[in-house]
Amino acid sequence: MYIKEEAFVIAKYPYKTSSLIVHFITKNLIIQCICYSAKKNSKYFGSDLEALAKIEIITSNIKKNTLHTLKETSILKNYQKISNSIYASTASFYIKEIISNIAHDFDIRYFTLIEKVFDALEENEYLNQENIKAYISILIRAFEIKALYIIGVMPTISKCVLCGSNINAYSHFSVDDGGVVCTNCIGHIHSRFIYKVSKPDLDFMTFIKHTSFIDIAKNKDAIKYNDLSNGVAKEILKNILFKHTSKKIKSESVLEEIFLY
Ligand SMILES: [Zn+2]
Repeated sequence: MYIKEEAFVIAKYPYKTSSLIVHFITKNLIIQCICYSAKKNSKYFGSDLEALAKIEIITSNIKKNTLHTLKETSILKNYQKISNSIYASTASFYIKEIISNIAHDFDIRYFTLIEKVFDALEENEYLNQENIKAYISILIRAFEIKALYIIGVMPTISKCVLCGSNINAYSHFSVDDGGVVCTNCIGHIHSRFIYKVSKPDLDFMTFIKHTSFIDIAKNKDAIKYNDLSNGVAKEILKNILFKHTSKKIKSESVLEEIFLY
C-alpha cells in the first residue's frame, strides 16, 4: 500500500554508500524514510531531496514510528529565492532544526508553520530587498513565538502572570512563571531566569504573536522592530524553547555569525 503526502525535508543522514535516511514533516507527523540510491541527483529522486521545496512524496506503509520506504518524489513549490539567499537559507536551516526538535506529536500545525514561514521568507526577498536581514530577524522571532504557541507554552505578555494586572511600563519576565510580572509581584517570582523588559519589548512580542508571517513581510512599518527583534525578546524566546526541548540548536551559532553586522 502506497501513501501520497505533501512534505518538507527537515533532516537527512547518509545511509550506507548511496542511500539516505530522510526525516519529512507531513500534514500528519514526522516520518522517517529510507531513500535507496538517493545521493545527489539520483535517477530515482532527481535533486528533489536537495532542494528547499514543498514536495509530494509517495511512501510505502505509513505507520507511526517505523521506517518507511520512499518510492517517488515531485516538487510542488520550489523556494528558489530562499535557496539563493545566504540569510534566508541560514534561517531555513534553523527553522527546520527547531521543527525537528519540537514536532513529536500528531499536529497539522507544524506543517502549516513551516509552510507559512517559508512562503513569507520567499516573498520577503521580493518585498524587502533594502532590509532583508531585519525582516528575516523579525520573521524568525515570529516563528519562535508561534512554535511556542503550538507546544503549549506561549508566554503571557499582556498582563502580569501572577496577579493579572495590566503592564504599563518596565516590568520583568520570568521564564519559569511563563510571563511578565508587574513591579508589585517581583518578590514572588519563582525563576532563575528573569529579564527586564520594556513596553516596546512587549509591544514587539504582541505584534509577532498576533500577526501572520506574510503580513509581517508586507508591513512596511515592521522595520521599526529591527532592534527589538535582537534584544531581550530574542533571549526570552530562545530560553523558553531551550527549556522545553533541552537540546542545543546546532544551526544557531551559524545563524548568529551570518547575522552579525
Ligand atoms: Zn502582578
